[in-house]
Amino acid sequence: MPIQILPEEIVSQIAAGEVVERPSSVVKELVENSIDAGAREIRVEARAGGKRYIRVSDDGCGIPAAEVELAFRRHSTSKLTSAADLARITTLGFRGEALASIAAVSRVTCETRAADEPTGTLLRLEAGQIVMRRESGRPPGTSVTVEDLFFNMPARRKFLRADRTEQGHIDAWLTRYALAYPELRFTLIQDGKEVFRSPGSGRLRDVLIAVYGLEVGAAALEIAPSAGAAEEEVMVYGFVSPPSLHRANRGYITIFVNGRWVQDTLLSYAIVQAYHTLLPAGRYPLAVVMVRLPPEEVDVNVHPAKSEVRFRDGDMVFRAVQKAVRRTLSEQATQALPSPYLARPVPPSREQDEAREVRRERLAALSTEQMRLDLPSRGLEVRTRLPPLRVVGQVSATYIVAEGEAGMYLIDQHAAHERVLFEQLLAEKEGAGIASQVLLEPRLVQLSPEAASLVSRHTELLERLGFLVEPFGGATLLVRALPAIVAQVDPLQVMEDVAAALSTGDAPISLPIEDAVLRHVCKRAAIKAGQVLTHAEMEQLVRALEQCANPHTCPHGRPTMILVSMEQVTREFGR
Ligand code: ADP
Ligand code: MG
Repeated sequence: MPIQILPEEIVSQIAAGEVVERPSSVVKELVENSIDAGAREIRVEARAGGKRYIRVSDDGCGIPAAEVELAFRRHSTSKLTSAADLARITTLGFRGEALASIAAVSRVTCETRAADEPTGTLLRLEAGQIVMRRESGRPPGTSVTVEDLFFNMPARRKFLRADRTEQGHIDAWLTRYALAYPELRFTLIQDGKEVFRSPGSGRLRDVLIAVYGLEVGAAALEIAPSAGAAEEEVMVYGFVSPPSLHRANRGYITIFVNGRWVQDTLLSYAIVQAYHTLLPAGRYPLAVVMVRLPPEEVDVNVHPAKSEVRFRDGDMVFRAVQKAVRRTLSEQATQALPSPYLARPVPPSREQDEAREVRRERLAALSTEQMRLDLPSRGLEVRTRLPPLRVVGQVSATYIVAEGEAGMYLIDQHAAHERVLFEQLLAEKEGAGIASQVLLEPRLVQLSPEAASLVSRHTELLERLGFLVEPFGGATLLVRALPAIVAQVDPLQVMEDVAAALSTGDAPISLPIEDAVLRHVCKRAAIKAGQVLTHAEMEQLVRALEQCANPHTCPHGRPTMILVSMEQVTREFGR
């Protein structure tokens, strides 16, 4: 084939491919533009994981009517004028590529009005070609709507993942920017449902609470400013988790350099290392770390997606981050932390109020259950701990007969084992983490679409409980690891249980759901009724039950045992 210059249309599709990888890249670029435009409020709406529809609206400076078409041309930007500027970038954008790239591979509608102009403009493009332009009577600010992403690039479109997965990527980008810009109000609406909102209070801790929940938000340690902070080249601030709070992977370490989210293995290593012996092996901290340094110290022009940076003096930045985290841990981690923040009211918003209301109801439900567990039922001992018992035998391959000083115990072997496993898992969860076992071969399991999507939305929560599960397209999940106690059980059964547990609760209230999942896991792992046990096995189970804090009920609240007191026996026999 002779050498040819590629047609413009193909050139722009290739270029677009570097900037726009998936729907979340569109969200990221548009949100960056809104931030650069000085917006206070940024609202993102997506449908079908952004594949069908994305709209980002802001109340920023808007685009002057005379420049709207220009904004969609390749290499057109208002943020750079000379090569010298490139060495000191202070905006998130500068390449002048995003709008052109997005427009080349979708149908875009841009409605914008500059604050100092009487009317706005509506411009519509398809595959990069302008198809409509008219005046618009909108308030100052900009909204960009992107429909049918990759409609003209079927190869790309095919590579997009399930809606849930794409939604997850959008979630991730929006929460990152919300953390980096606490003074801005971000709202994210997926398929018509508000899934995230940051209060815009200017306080990073408020955003932490919005993203990770009250527990993490309240426990997080604010990075202590160093004594000579003002003179130092590198400023480090943000939050890190106390050593008691950790996660199974590095995914909870978020780093920003000059307000830009970066994926930097070295800096994330600096943070992990600052904890050195403080964390159990294989566990990682949560951290939101902001690094500020003079713009000429950092090169952001490394990659079209701009999430990699190069430092002029990387060692200096590494040391600054590590020192700041160490100092924070040594100053604060040793203090007992009855956080004053828990007592302080969280900034009000109706949604947060509702979320709190739900949480309160859940907690109330939980404590009622707790009360039920603690209340003695008829025929049960009032004492919580069990006295030492002597195993007599098994009845009907279902009940263990044992003798204690109060009389005869009939123990339901399944319920008792559930209780033992449940307390074991709770202890592991509080301690070094729930023992997890990687399957020799990852297993694909097929659930109902609702069940699969529920599980996919909770992969992080499940990871804390010893599961490693990934969405695999459609209603299929890839199971890589399970809690060790169910490692021998069919993963399909386990995942069905998990989905059943998840359907009893919803995302932000992770505490009761985690317990619900654990209960289901224990139920699945426990010895069944009808299973013949050796004397030694019965001994072992009864000893373990004696160690339990709540031996009298299974995790679902049913009794594990019936006590027939000696008085009762005497009375029945009329002695
Ligand atoms: P860059 O952000 O690198 O400059 P873009 O293609 O993302 O390139 O945007 C091109 C130009 O369009 C920007 O430089 C800016 O002037 C204008 N623009 C884009 N989005 C907005 C917005 N939300 N508000 C105001 N101006 C915008
Ligand atoms: Mg931009």
